[in-house]
Amino acid sequence: MSGKEKKFINEAISENWVAPNGPNITGFENDLMNFFDNEKHIVAMNSGTAAIHLGLIQLGVKPGDEVICQSFTFIASANPITYIGAKPVFIDSDKDNWNMSPNYLRIAIEDRIAKTGKKPKAIIPVHIYGMPAKMDEIIAIATEYEIPILEDAAEALGSVYKGQKCGTFGNFACLSFNGNKIITTSGGGALVCNTAQDAQQALYYATQARDKVTHYEHSQIGYNYRMSNISAGIGRGQMFILKKNIQRRKIIQKLYTKLLNEIPGFSVLQNPSEKFDSNFWLTCLMVDKDIAGISAVDICNKLSLNNIECRHLWKPLHLQPVYKESPYYGNGTCEKIFENGLCLPSGANLTDEDIFYVVNEIKNLVEN
Ligand SMILES: *Cc1c(COP(=O)(O)O)cnc(C)c1O
Repeated sequence: MSGKEKKFINEAISENWVAPNGPNITGFENDLMNFFDNEKHIVAMNSGTAAIHLGLIQLGVKPGDEVICQSFTFIASANPITYIGAKPVFIDSDKDNWNMSPNYLRIAIEDRIAKTGKKPKAIIPVHIYGMPAKMDEIIAIATEYEIPILEDAAEALGSVYKGQKCGTFGNFACLSFNGNKIITTSGGGALVCNTAQDAQQALYYATQARDKVTHYEHSQIGYNYRMSNISAGIGRGQMFILKKNIQRRKIIQKLYTKLLNEIPGFSVLQNPSEKFDSNFWLTCLMVDKDIAGISAVDICNKLSLNNIECRHLWKPLHLQPVYKESPYYGNGTCEKIFENGLCLPSGANLTDEDIFYVVNEIKNLVEN
């Protein structure tokens, strides 16, 4: 917390703006628009998942359509495809940045057209753990086949690819302010739109699709997806520490790299080149079991006995029981990443001493 969250919450309560409407929502949206250099339009919602859902609806995704999605991600990237009655098609990751492989993206598009006679309706690349996806290549393919992009930037607020902020590449992009993200509103998200018209349409869908007449008139199906004015107050407070949080997460990643990369078989995920500037939302570690003598899963489980919370990496969606029938294009790269990696404690409030403690415990495990 920045300490300023309470001021905005108190204002909301004392002015009786305890509703999915009010000055904090407008204020938070303006803060976010400022963050994106006032080149985008933002609609605050009650989750990142809701933002993806409305983004897909606005891209015209309909029941029976196919939507291409990165496999190596949190399930929220793909579930809105299913909400619509459309079908996800999953794509493998590249080894260097862990995100959507442009090579398999092209193969998948060609094969879906050959098999179904129809183009996929949208592409969802993800900037996983804050690491930017290869947007140059992905946009080139999307443009060639005229398929729109919904960019999942839920984990990547403040990440930059070739000098451009993540969340600004797609026809739409989603942000998340869930409790675990780089800034939080306790729960919340936003849809990043390219035009005021798109944003207006998103707002319409997010507030039950009410027609512009004085009584309650509805000619389309809408949703109750608007952010609350209380949550938005937390978001306004959080904006004061966004830059500091990102800096700290990057320093934490550097420190882990310095301390852990010297261990044989260990490698901390890095920006693969100067094009990539991850916010390092989470620092991720890959462990080659044959060299290190211990597996990532063992490290994860044993550290938890010492009150150190690591996390497994996202299990690829094409391996999830609920999506096992969905088409997948790849050669198992994301499966290997999943099996051999883990997320290290990365919160911006961790001190250097905390990191030394975690690293020492890991070294003890490797040596014994
Ligand atoms: C958190 C997250 C989402 C969904 O955001 P919510 O606000 O939790 O609904 C979507 N995609 C990815 C990659 C995420 O990490």
